Amino acid sequence: MIQLDPVSLQNYAIAGVALIGAFLAALWAALVVWTFRDMRARSRDFFAQLLAAIVVLVLNIPGFIVYLILRPRETVAEGYARSLEEEALLQSIEERPFCPGCNRLTRPAWLVCPHCQTLLRKTCSQCKQPLELNWNICPLCSAPAPGREARAAIDSG
Ligand SMILES: [Zn+2]
Ligand SMILES: [Zn+2]
Repeated sequence: MIQLDPVSLQNYAIAGVALIGAFLAALWAALVVWTFRDMRARSRDFFAQLLAAIVVLVLNIPGFIVYLILRPRETVAEGYARSLEEEALLQSIEERPFCPGCNRLTRPAWLVCPHCQTLLRKTCSQCKQPLELNWNICPLCSAPAPGREARAAIDSG
């Protein structure tokens, strides 16, 4: 017959509670570390990273739930990839210029839109290459390009 010694039974209970306590403490610490790392991937702001970790450290699991609700939607890497994508999209729009007058696609060498006669580009006074209207200098021969006022003066004179 096995005799259950009340003292050793109490020891087992204490050991069990200590084990569960140690597990919960480790889980809590892991949550704090995970939150700090996760926030570091989502924000470059060290104060925000620290604040997120402190919220979980102080409020434990409820704080962790609040962090999951409030954390930034995308990581820094995702945000960077998205900004690159947007930049590439803008670039492709710039490379496919449309006539400001009739919205039809124009070619880079065109000076005037053949559909609506809108002025698209000006020519360099020296090398005769097409220049964008807002350029003040020719990128090919470095001759100063006439501005809009100068051009108007040339047109009227
Ligand atoms: Zn046009
Ligand atoms: Zn030129």
